[in-house]
Amino acid sequence: MRIPVVYSQLMVADSGNSASPSASKPALVAQALRTSNYPVDFHDPEPVTVEEIQRVHDPRFVRAVLEGREDNGFGNRSAEVARSLPYTSGSLLTAAKLALGPKRPAVVASLSAGFHHATFSEAADFCTFNGFMIAAADLIAHSRVERLAIIDADYHYGNGTDDILTATGLSANVFHYSFGRDFTSESQALAYLEKMKNLEVDLARFNPQLIIYSAGVDAHVEDPLGGMLTTEQLGARDELMFQIAKRLGVPVVFNLAGGYQRDPDGGISKVVKLHLNTFSAALRVHDSVA
Ligand SMILES: [Zn+2]
Repeated sequence: MRIPVVYSQLMVADSGNSASPSASKPALVAQALRTSNYPVDFHDPEPVTVEEIQRVHDPRFVRAVLEGREDNGFGNRSAEVARSLPYTSGSLLTAAKLALGPKRPAVVASLSAGFHHATFSEAADFCTFNGFMIAAADLIAHSRVERLAIIDADYHYGNGTDDILTATGLSANVFHYSFGRDFTSESQALAYLEKMKNLEVDLARFNPQLIIYSAGVDAHVEDPLGGMLTTEQLGARDELMFQIAKRLGVPVVFNLAGGYQRDPDGGISKVVKLHLNTFSAALRVHDSVA
């Protein structure tokens, strides 16, 4: 299997915030995929329009952020970040369109992060606009899907996604489960994996036509803002998700989401490596050898 990957330099902006590497992370993951010869094909993201963003966010808030009159999720008003936002959310939507397109790839990756804390009218915690919900609302509005699932395995609770589901009334069309709501302690690693297994029943019942999977690696036990899973358990988590989707015959779009470990020199090679493990898990599930 080859994995389509939606990424371009236009998604990358200097956030001016050293606490979150998320703005430069997509470029480093793309580079690592290339140098490690992963079987991936790169696709450019199509930027989302202001109208598409406003489908799930307060129109006033959207304009204010894009025009630099209100803080983005990094707590600043950077024009560079504002320019990148349509591409970051666009990456997720483009990936979803590829997954639902004529080639029907089983897994598509979006090298994006920073969506799930963005509520209907506020940016927060490195998240400005909610790319999951922008994509979901667009796919539903254009009847590309009737039902989709958002499985959020980032360590933190995707409060923004729930807020927008309530604000837009899309709860009937979107199954949302965020591990961060229920799993917050190191002692819960095995229960976490058990929960992932059990999601198969819920997903089979809901019968989504697409699964959006937030494969945050801040669920790693060594993450400064996380987490409880070892590297092997993170791999098992991703494998379970891809296996469930394969059994149900539903394509998966996954994105990078959180991951905050730093190397001694300040780099993020550990985080990049953990993100590559998600690609490896997809390949293990879909290929006999990987
Ligand atoms: Zn997180």
